[in-house]
Amino acid sequence: MSEQEVWFLTGSQELYGQETLNQVAAHAREMAAYFDTQGRLPVRVVCKPTLTGPDAIHRMCLEANASPACVGVITWMHTFSPSKMWIRGLTQLAKPMAHLHTQYNRELPWGQIDMDFMNLNQSAHGDREFGFVVARLRLEHKIVVGHWQDADVIAELGSWCRVARAAAESRSLKIVRFGGMNMREVAVTGGDRVQAEIQFGWSINGHAVGDLVQRLSEVRDAEIEQQVAVYEATYTLAPSLLRGGEHRENLRHAARQEIGMRAFLTEGGYGAFTTTFEDLYGLNQLPGLACQRLMADGYGFGAEGDWKTAALVRLMKVMSAGRKGGVSFMEDYTYHLVKGEEKVLGAHMLEVCPSIAEGKPSLEVHPLDIGGKAAPCRLVFSAGAGPAVAATMVDMGGRMRLIVQEVDALRPEHAMPKLPVARALWVPRPDFKRGAHAWLLAGGAHHTAWSQAVTAEELEDLAAILDIECVHIGHGTDLAALKRELRWNDRQG
Ligand code: MN
Repeated sequence: MSEQEVWFLTGSQELYGQETLNQVAAHAREMAAYFDTQGRLPVRVVCKPTLTGPDAIHRMCLEANASPACVGVITWMHTFSPSKMWIRGLTQLAKPMAHLHTQYNRELPWGQIDMDFMNLNQSAHGDREFGFVVARLRLEHKIVVGHWQDADVIAELGSWCRVARAAAESRSLKIVRFGGMNMREVAVTGGDRVQAEIQFGWSINGHAVGDLVQRLSEVRDAEIEQQVAVYEATYTLAPSLLRGGEHRENLRHAARQEIGMRAFLTEGGYGAFTTTFEDLYGLNQLPGLACQRLMADGYGFGAEGDWKTAALVRLMKVMSAGRKGGVSFMEDYTYHLVKGEEKVLGAHMLEVCPSIAEGKPSLEVHPLDIGGKAAPCRLVFSAGAGPAVAATMVDMGGRMRLIVQEVDALRPEHAMPKLPVARALWVPRPDFKRGAHAWLLAGGAHHTAWSQAVTAEELEDLAAILDIECVHIGHGTDLAALKRELRWNDRQG
């Protein structure tokens, strides 16, 4: 991932003469080097030669498209760059673009300002000319405004780089569905896989559970011993899982599942996967611990065949890499509806990612009421407090809709000693009543990718790059306006 880069493209024109162009190039190099220093941005920043004509611009855009390392381009017009020159290149550009609206010189030199200064520092109108043509072309892009050394500008560019990285991941994402099916009769977990591959690049294919069972059978005892030792070192084990305990074999089987699934995913080049409790043929238990730990290592996951959420979890893992806080598959499970204290208790049968855990998870084993298999092992923990997002993608028939809700996670006030699964507690924004109402209006699923490490704005930017509708539910949501937005979007789509 550290090999990925964004290209810094500076626009100008030949009118100003070589001396000015030399200064433009020197400034661009200095700025790109600043962004590239000390990991200020999460990818490398490569300065490209100043662009002064349509052929060079066109060539640069094609080179960006062809470069596997380049995840996006940052454009900036140091001087005036007549923007008809950009049309041929920009209409071909297939990589994400951020327009950095900045100026090399921060402070106006009040006592010394002359026309040389004015002619060099003209992004105030050069960037407006560029902005017009981008708007005229209806190109989705990010705009970042401010002096290039300001912390907020660096943070916004950094966020966009993370989104661009996720968009690059999307283009090559392979998703395997163990059992190859959705939960029977469930609507929201389905969708058009061909459309998803055309639009996002996701390759989504099923494998018989028997293929996985075969891989599990190849796991050696010594590997299982090693894996169980990792569990013992990392988690607090329930007494029945300890050596000699009643469920020690269940733990050894969970280890076999983790090793076998990890091998299957690695060997197949998969970045995300789904399971379904309706097809556990030949599996001794529903994989719980394995799914949790694979998610924690960056794999996307969706239960019940939910490949859309699996992909979203993976893309959000890429976006949040290196940040505090985690990303998990999640389900809106049950409610606390005491007036004035309303909140959501989120969990799943087993598969919540320990990257969102506060404190050390406990490793437990409990029977599962559905599926009719051996008691599966799982990590039990609670997510911590703080702002978070819940995101889901739904297939509206002919088009995908990303729904992003800002939520506020709460530390549980009460112990839940009989709840045998990991959980998170939150209040949707703008408040429980309107937040849940808005989610239902938009057709949001019960499955989400849930995170304290990704922002709603980053997900909106991802939707823009993927060219899909995004419904953002947050503190400013007004139900009447949302209804109109959805109605207009549905009529257009
Ligand atoms: Mn579910």
